Amino acid sequence: ITLMELGKILNKDMNYVSQLFLNAFDKPNTEISDLKILQQAIKRSGRRMRIIGKPQDNLMEIMKKDAFPRPPPSKAELKPRPPVVTVMGHIDHGKTTLLDALRDSKVVDEEFGGITQHIGAFSVVLKSGSCITFLDTPGHAAFTAMRSRGANLTDIVVLVVAADDGVMEQTIESIRMAKQAKVPILVAINKIDSPKADIARTEKSLLEAGIQVEKFGGDVQAIPISALKKQNLELLTEALVLQSDLLEIGADPTGPVEAVVIESKIHPYKGKLCTLIVQRGTLKKGDILVAGTAIAKVRALKDGQGKTIQQVKPGYPAEIEGWRELPPAGEQVLQVETEKRAREVQRIRESEEAKKKMEEDMKEINIKMQQHEKEYKEKLELKRRMGRFKLKPVGPRKPEIQDNDGVPVLNILIKADVDGTLEAILNVVDTYESNLCKIELINYGIGSISENDIELAETFNGIIYGFNVDLPQNLKNKTDTVSIKFFNVIYKLIDDIKEEINAKLPPKE
Ligand code: GDP
Repeated sequence: ITLMELGKILNKDMNYVSQLFLNAFDKPNTEISDLKILQQAIKRSGRRMRIIGKPQDNLMEIMKKDAFPRPPPSKAELKPRPPVVTVMGHIDHGKTTLLDALRDSKVVDEEFGGITQHIGAFSVVLKSGSCITFLDTPGHAAFTAMRSRGANLTDIVVLVVAADDGVMEQTIESIRMAKQAKVPILVAINKIDSPKADIARTEKSLLEAGIQVEKFGGDVQAIPISALKKQNLELLTEALVLQSDLLEIGADPTGPVEAVVIESKIHPYKGKLCTLIVQRGTLKKGDILVAGTAIAKVRALKDGQGKTIQQVKPGYPAEIEGWRELPPAGEQVLQVETEKRAREVQRIRESEEAKKKMEEDMKEINIKMQQHEKEYKEKLELKRRMGRFKLKPVGPRKPEIQDNDGVPVLNILIKADVDGTLEAILNVVDTYESNLCKIELINYGIGSISENDIELAETFNGIIYGFNVDLPQNLKNKTDTVSIKFFNVIYKLIDDIKEEINAKLPPKE
C-alpha cells in the first residue's frame, strides 16, 4: 500500500502518514496509538498488516543507519582553511612545470629529508604563513573525476596560458568547465621568459574567450609568470591567497570528518591507500571512515613527504592507510562512530547498489518484453488484414465452373532474412482459405534466393517472394525467366499475394 493511498483513507497528506509510520515503528512502545491508526487504515483498505521481527529490526531503523553528511555549518562555525586549487589549461602550456615548481617551493623538513612523492595533492606554506593546497593531477581528468561524483572540491582554478601561444582549444574547454562548475578562475600567463612571449596579445585572446582580466576592467587576476625560471611564483601564490580571502573560504574543523578521495592505490607493503582532502572535522588516527562501500580504520596519516602526521584539518591533503576496500577517486568520505556502524552502512549501501543493478536489469527485460509485445501485435494485425482479404475475394459469382481442375493455383516461394518474419508470413499464408483460388507453397526458407529456388519457380511457374533478402550477383540474369519480388514490409508482401490471387481469378461478368 502506498503512503498516498493511506493518506486518502485517512484524509490526510503524505507527510502526516510518513510521520505516523515514524512514530509507530521508530518508537513502538511510546506511540501505540499511531500504530493503531495505521492498522485501522490498512484494514479499511482491504489489506492486512503484520509486523515481523523485533521493532529494532524494522525498516526505518535500518534506513537511519546509512551515513549522511551533516547539514552545512553556520557562519560562526567557519574557520579559515587553505583553498584547494586545480591547475588547468592547454597541453604544453606548462601545467606540470608549474606544479613541480610550486611543490619544490614548499618548506621541506630538512631533518626528515623525505623525498617528495606524488600522492595526488600537496599543500604549500607561504612566507606569510598562509597555505594553499594544490591538486597534483593537472588538466581536466582530476577536475571531472571529482565533479562526476558531485564533489565540489576545487575552490579556484589556475588557468595556465602560454604567452607565446595564447588561448587554445583546451584553454577554452577549461574555461567552460570552470564556469559550468561556478569555480572562479585566476590566470597564470606562463612562459614570459620566452622570446616569443606576448602578454598583451595573450590577454586579448583571453578577452575573446570570455575572460576579462583586471587590465580590461574585469575581475579576473592575470599573473605573468615563468614556471621554468620560477619567476613571479610568489606573486601567483599571493594572488591565490587574496582570491581565497575574497571568497571567504572557511570550514568547520569540529565534529565528524567529511572528506573527498583524491586517488587510491594498493601498495605492496602498506596495503590499500588513498589520498584525501579533509573538508570538515579533523581526521585522526583510529577514526572510522566510510567512502561508498569502502571502510577504513585509520592506521596512519602521512603527508606528501611520507612523514607521519597526527591530524589533518580541513583544506589539507593526507595519505591514509587502513582501508579494507579501495575507495574510488572522487568518493565522499564520512566518519562514523563505530566499526559496527560502518559495517551497517556498508551493508545498506551494498544492498542499495544491488537494488540499483536489479532495477537496471529489469529495465532491460522490460524493453525486451515490449519488443515481443510489438511483434505479437504486428502478427495480430497481419492476421486481421489477411482476414479482410479472405472475406472479400473478388471474383465470379459462378462457382459451378470451378470443378477440381478449374481452380486456379498460385505457386509461391518465400525467402526471408530471419526466423521471426518468415514465421509471421507463413502464419498469414496459412490463414488463407478460399475455393476460388488455391495457394501452393512450393518452398520457403531463410537466407538469400538460391539457384534451386529459381529452378523450382521455373518448374512450377511460381513467384519468388524475398523478404529483406537479396539476389546474389550471379543469379541476376535469371530475373527474366521467373518472377522475383522483393519486400521489406510484411503488409505489402501480403497485399501483393492478394493481387496475384485476384489476377488468377476469371474476370467478373
Ligand atoms: P603541460 O602539458 O601543460 O603540463 O606542460 P609542461 O609543464 O609539460 O611543459 C611543456 C613544455 O613547456 C616543457 O618543455 C616545459 O619545459 C616548457 N615550459 C614550461 N613552462 C615554461 C616557461 O615558463 N618558460 C619556458 N620557456 N618554457 C616552459
